[in-house]
Amino acid sequence: MMKRVVRLISGLNRRMMKLLFALALIAYIACKYTNLDCFDIVVSPLREKIRDLEQSFSQKYPPVKFLSEKDRKRILITGGAGFVGSHLTDKLMMDGHEVTVVDNFFTGRKRNVEHWIGHENFELINHDVVEPLYIEVDQIYHLASPASPPNYMYNPIKTLKTNTIGTLNMLGLAKRVGARLLLASTSEVYGDPEVHPQNEEYWGHVNPIGPRACYDEGKRVAETMCYAYMKQEGVEVRVARIFNTFGSRMHMNDGRVVSNFILQALQGEPLTVYGTGSQTRAFQYVSDLVNGLVLLMNSNISSPVNLGNPEEHTILEFARLIKSLVGKGCIQFLSEAQDDPQRRRPDIRKARMMLGWEPVVPLEEGLNKTIQYFSRELEHQANNQYIPKPKAARMKKGRPRHN
Ligand code: NAD
Ligand code: UDP
Ligand code: UDP
Repeated sequence: MMKRVVRLISGLNRRMMKLLFALALIAYIACKYTNLDCFDIVVSPLREKIRDLEQSFSQKYPPVKFLSEKDRKRILITGGAGFVGSHLTDKLMMDGHEVTVVDNFFTGRKRNVEHWIGHENFELINHDVVEPLYIEVDQIYHLASPASPPNYMYNPIKTLKTNTIGTLNMLGLAKRVGARLLLASTSEVYGDPEVHPQNEEYWGHVNPIGPRACYDEGKRVAETMCYAYMKQEGVEVRVARIFNTFGSRMHMNDGRVVSNFILQALQGEPLTVYGTGSQTRAFQYVSDLVNGLVLLMNSNISSPVNLGNPEEHTILEFARLIKSLVGKGCIQFLSEAQDDPQRRRPDIRKARMMLGWEPVVPLEEGLNKTIQYFSRELEHQANNQYIPKPKAARMKKGRPRHN
């Protein structure tokens, strides 16, 4: 018996010895003939990936106030990944609310709200408001719509659908869940105005078949729908008539005057003034607008309210100002745009009296911040860092457009 046990162990040992020898041989060959650099090339990105993952788990979010269950609202922002929507998202998140952003990324970008992704109060839904949406919310800020003339003129049918069917869907949602809806309307409802400055009583002067009509008439119908749902269905509505707004996260290539002029000046190219440059606009900084939107939403004013900065400038003056702030560029005159409103300045007495609101950021201060933002964006591009373009910027004329 004893002899059999000894034989078995020695047999096992022999087999084990062979295995160990084979492993040692493989290890020796691997060390001798494989390139350790190759090993590093494979392993270092994995190490980096693990580091990134560790960092993302301990991600720091901007500071968020604590709100009791009673005060905390579930807020939907359509178009929340766009320029204005993303700043509104920041404010409402930091105020401690639960924010759901719905966006189809036509002109918006995930990047604008990525700093909230993963936060327990935040949700991002890729959805087109032209399709119905069934969620539960207390307030709806309805901003979804392209806003810059080249973007909304690119696909006028889609612009109309977004502002009409999209608004109808959001009003249907507001009706079903008993939410209050704020519509981001526009000074464009006044068209090329014959009344100056424009107050909320003015009915406007819009060409219903011109190139701007898809947006202007789309927003006018959206307003009409709000008041039809208010009267017929008792939906609580708020209507903000927003005047020209600028600031960080405007898309550099959206074709609006602020982005065009800043980009052109920074790149040392001529600032393209359409027509003589005698047409006027009044520009507000985005933080002023966002404060106005939140005040209006939480007020008891259901009639339309202008939100804009009443400081009016000709476009030529504006080009000269940006040229001097950036410190380079020259001015080039191009042909006039069709149906371009000639004078625009908001009368903000109603907002002042009923909301206690007025813009506080001086034009130059806002422009300097925006210039800094654009410089950083250009630096990113120069360093070949990939900045995904919104869908609108990727589209080329002649390509099929999906309505
Ligand atoms: P923006 O283009 O940066 O943002 C609009 C957002 O809506 C984008 O994120 C876009 O992807 C999204 N969107 C467009 N169509 C959609 C659809 N069908 N479904 C879901 N999402 C959709 O523009 P902005 O300057 O932030 O404008 C926001 C709102 O304010 C718009 O309604 C605009 O009409 C209004 N407004 C803006 C200004 C201004 O100067 N910025 C002036 C007047 C009115
Ligand atoms: N709707 C929606 N979400 C909802 C409720 C309605 O998107 O939670 C849409 C619905 O698809 C409809 C639109 O809103 O097309 C208008 O709704 P409403 O109830 O007023 O009209 P109806 O459904 O009776 O035509
Ligand atoms: N504009 C310009 N050069 C540009 C872009 C715009 O002169 O490169 C003018 C445009 O004709 C209009 C004004 O600037 O008179 C504001 O244009 P924007 O597209 O920003 O907004 P709008 O107020 O017309 O919707």
